[in-house]
Amino acid sequence: MSEQDLYKELWELSFLVEDLVHGGWERPHPEPPTVPGEAPPLVAGSGERSEGKPTGGDDPARTLGALHEQVRACNRCDLARTRRQAVPGTGRVGLPVMVVGEAPGADEDVKGEPFVGRAGQYLDKWLAAIGLQRGRDVFITNVVKCRPPGNRDPRPDEISACLPFLEAQIALVRPRAILTVGRFAASTLLGTQEGISRLRGRVYRYRDIPLVPTYHPSAVLRDPSLRRPVWEDLKLLSSVLRGEGAGVHDASR
Ligand code: SF4
Repeated sequence: MSEQDLYKELWELSFLVEDLVHGGWERPHPEPPTVPGEAPPLVAGSGERSEGKPTGGDDPARTLGALHEQVRACNRCDLARTRRQAVPGTGRVGLPVMVVGEAPGADEDVKGEPFVGRAGQYLDKWLAAIGLQRGRDVFITNVVKCRPPGNRDPRPDEISACLPFLEAQIALVRPRAILTVGRFAASTLLGTQEGISRLRGRVYRYRDIPLVPTYHPSAVLRDPSLRRPVWEDLKLLSSVLRGEGAGVHDASR
């Protein structure tokens, strides 16, 4: 099987996992993009189907666990050479909110958990302000699962190498809403180069999931003037979770 054929199999399988969790076997699935290089093993299971359903990785919780093991063993990009350990994310299938940040920092690299440093404690306060708690209500992860050296920005090749893991996590956890924190998470999931200050304050969609972008907690710690817009964004997220009709915007506009 060629690399592209294998990638197509995995692409289709990621949608079938989503179908498995939420029904809708008749939904059309988009064609995968052509991705150069080795394809990551996105989910557990062979991908062989029985009566139109996947036979491997049928339990989303087990599949998520297997996916995280694959992240911990991953060496698809250069960050594998400098990380202490990969940081797949914390939480479980079915939590209503997913927070997506940029990449692990030094504390996360040591502990193997996302958002455990000062910025993580600040994020916990944000969540508590709207009645949410990590682990109980919120799955937390990053676009890139390994720490960039010196906390530099993740490179485009690193983001594209790691993105299939995040896509599979979203398909398995299937949150009711996504909160992206910082420029990279918003631009990656929305497919735009627009800056976070222009994106925030609105609700978008990633596939069919409402997505609210806001600033990264680290940025707000550096610049307290960002607190008010973050609070507005958190209230927006809260209204989305309550099912109140916030207008959905197109990130390309
Ligand atoms: S950043 Fe992602 S793609 Fe790169 S080695 Fe870590 S898990 Fe693999």
